[in-house]
Amino acid sequence: MEELVALCKRRGFIFQSSEIYGGLQGVYDYGPLGVELKNNIKSSWWTSMVYEHDNIEGLDASILSNPLVLRYSGHEDTFSDPMVDCKKCKSRFRSDSVANKCPKCGSSDLTEPRPFNLMFKTSLGPIEDENSFAYLRPETAQQIFINFKNVVDSTSKSLPFGIAQIGKAFRNEITPRNFIFRVREFEQMELEYFVKPGEDDDSLNSWVQKRLNWWKEQGVPTDSVELYEVPIDELAHYSKRTVDIMYKFPHGLEELEGIANRTDFDLGSHSKKQEELNINSEVKSNNDSNSKLAAQDENGNWFVPFVIEPSAGVERGFLAILNEAYTHEDIGDGKTRIVLKLKPHLSPVKAAVIPLKKNNQEIVDLSIKTKNKLQALGFGRVMLENTGNIGKGYRRHDEIGTPICITIDFESLENNTVTVRDRDSMNQKRIKIIDLENYFTTQLK
Ligand code: ATP
Repeated sequence: MEELVALCKRRGFIFQSSEIYGGLQGVYDYGPLGVELKNNIKSSWWTSMVYEHDNIEGLDASILSNPLVLRYSGHEDTFSDPMVDCKKCKSRFRSDSVANKCPKCGSSDLTEPRPFNLMFKTSLGPIEDENSFAYLRPETAQQIFINFKNVVDSTSKSLPFGIAQIGKAFRNEITPRNFIFRVREFEQMELEYFVKPGEDDDSLNSWVQKRLNWWKEQGVPTDSVELYEVPIDELAHYSKRTVDIMYKFPHGLEELEGIANRTDFDLGSHSKKQEELNINSEVKSNNDSNSKLAAQDENGNWFVPFVIEPSAGVERGFLAILNEAYTHEDIGDGKTRIVLKLKPHLSPVKAAVIPLKKNNQEIVDLSIKTKNKLQALGFGRVMLENTGNIGKGYRRHDEIGTPICITIDFESLENNTVTVRDRDSMNQKRIKIIDLENYFTTQLK
């Protein structure tokens, strides 16, 4: 893990947030390469969920949440972790991370575990009182449920169909740890897939398979993950069944994504006229909602759809993908290199164009022209690496996972050819500039 953390800082993937003021615990900033990798992960998820399914629509809802949303969802009552306080040094820890001794000062004078609500509150408007607060959402899912009717009415969807969303979520984790694995501000990629009751079990199984395939396509192979069937007594209050995709993180096997059968709990909880809907789950009686979140069967009878939720954290995905890609390689002659073997669609930089001489105007001009041409193809960032040191350029681009380096030299000016270097094999060959677009496109697909 230390090597990954060091690479992330050195090359500009991830920085500790508010670093110059001593940092902010459990919060990170994504640097020039981090933002590209994160965007590429999100875009790959969005493509596979929304563009590749005609019955899935996207949503980008607010982070600030009306407290009623999180009251009816059950989060106000149940979204808590048991925590203990050390009476000596006043530190607070998750009870599962404490073995009868304070991890900070070693004292065994601890309180009994008490529930600690993980939601952040903020106040709306100029007057701060009990009625002026809102929550920062602890998951993106609730905003999907409360927009159910809006989406159905505006897109004429019928079951089964899904609503996908990527966005920030906030949890006041008691002990943020393991770099970006457990943080207080993170992003989730969540799909809520609505099905008829009775079709939920098969749907969950099929989503588990789809999600394993997707992780594989991102460079997280099936033999690095394990499926964990969450035991009944550990299921969340809304869940009939949950399967977690566990990944072998550098610090141990932990949850990467959860796929839950949330039954009709959420739509049922947020719906008006609950008594007309034959809701299976136990829900709080709701006199505040003005929307019926339900569907009609062939005979016109109302029912509440069940929902299957694949929910993945962007940061945990980022960490798993980096961990898989990070390779320390022996390259002969007693030399080694660090290379990020990222799948090309995730690489922060798709190609680096390196002029042999940074002060030769003709070479630099041809490099800029070549860069702009490749950039215009729309695969993502192409970079002009004008440091004048090819060896350094290759090393840097190996470390940040750039699939192709293109070197422009004097010969390029004479015969319109360039050298292309493949990141993984380190093979170099000369190709004609007119063939470069084709080469680039083939390598990136
Ligand atoms: P954990 O048991 O690890 O706290 P969870 O079961 O509470 O996770 P969910 O509520 O199922 O997590 O959230 C769905 C996904 O969101 C998780 O699989 C994870 O990828 C991500 N996630 C949840 N909490 C955090 C966090 N504090 N930091 C980073 N990612 C998180």
